[in-house]
Amino acid sequence: MVLAERVSKIKPSPTLAVSAKADKMKADGIDIISFGAGEPDFDTPQNIKDAAINALNQGFTKYTAVDGIQELKDAIINKFQRQNGLTYERKQIIVSCGGKHTIYNIAQALFNNGDEIIIPSPYWVSFPDIVLLADATPVIVTTQEKNEFKILPDELRGAVTPKTKAIILNSPSNPTGTVYTAEELGKIAEIAVEKKLIVISDEIYEEFVYDGLTFTSIASLGKAIKDLTIVVNGVSKAYSMTGWRIGYAAGHPEIISAMSKIQSQSTSNPTSIAQKASVEALMNSHGTVDTMVEEFNRRRKYMAERLNSIDGVSCLKPMGAFYAFPRVSPLYQKRFNGKKIQNSTGLADFLLDAARVAVVPGLAFGDDNHIRLSYATSFKNIEMGMDRIEEAIKQLE
Ligand code: GLU
Repeated sequence: MVLAERVSKIKPSPTLAVSAKADKMKADGIDIISFGAGEPDFDTPQNIKDAAINALNQGFTKYTAVDGIQELKDAIINKFQRQNGLTYERKQIIVSCGGKHTIYNIAQALFNNGDEIIIPSPYWVSFPDIVLLADATPVIVTTQEKNEFKILPDELRGAVTPKTKAIILNSPSNPTGTVYTAEELGKIAEIAVEKKLIVISDEIYEEFVYDGLTFTSIASLGKAIKDLTIVVNGVSKAYSMTGWRIGYAAGHPEIISAMSKIQSQSTSNPTSIAQKASVEALMNSHGTVDTMVEEFNRRRKYMAERLNSIDGVSCLKPMGAFYAFPRVSPLYQKRFNGKKIQNSTGLADFLLDAARVAVVPGLAFGDDNHIRLSYATSFKNIEMGMDRIEEAIKQLE
């Protein structure tokens, strides 16, 4: 079969692949603890489910406006105003089938062959592939652990060429847990405005910040940067609604309208009843977010402490999102049952075999010295998983 060339340019999502593998092993009766894909273990709150059930019972089961129902757009506008001090009009909002689909639409609407898109690394696994699918070129800028994995203004300046079209930011970051301060974002914004770069700001982990940090959207730092920024967010993480597939973007009306045109020729509207449920999530469910974040904070501290107590493993305290990203490269070249561990993939395989714990190799995020563990799973699982990891690593020779 001769497939389209674009298929060979990309790989399947490694985060989803790890959880699929863990799920399969569980189904085969193997007792696996998964720190793989990042999705909250909490159930979707009942009031949100009820909103979907009501919509279903009322027959709200037909096509909706391609770019989302007005009620949901208004709830999103309300959220931006309330939480970020950002004012948008309906024509600046689009609802799509999840955050990933939103970013995909942005890339399809904006990027051309030859455009360079700056992506600080470690990055979320899908950013480079989405850029490639739009025929543009990902320009990976490697950040340093000593700088908390944040791109420095000079590093950004050094990566900009006349072909640079955009930069993709993700704060709080998946996989590192890094959170940029308003001041740091201000410096990035200055460069973006000076060089006329579009900023795609993936803010899906906005709610998950710890230790008294506050979240800042780069778009809120002035009119010039707001005009250049497309904010991406969604209900998946904050409201435990990963399966409902609702993401959204806010930005320049021309870009939003182009995204809507593309969406009209691909998915059409996101699921009608999921849109109704998302209105309920954004307008009436903030209490549940706070409870979830409190529990994540407890898990975060525990996991980071346990990781740091293991010889050969060191972990920056994650300040946001729900991932730990420990350095494990001191364990490379050690052996398990005579087999040498060479890299992050080897280490993840070893943990799956020897500890029955699923993690994502750092290589998937552009960093082979680390692995990613999601702590969006029960405290009990984290305790057991950390015990198993500790025991398995002791057996390395
Ligand atoms: N964003 C989550 C993760 O990184 C979900 C899986 C995915 O779409 O990548 O694990």
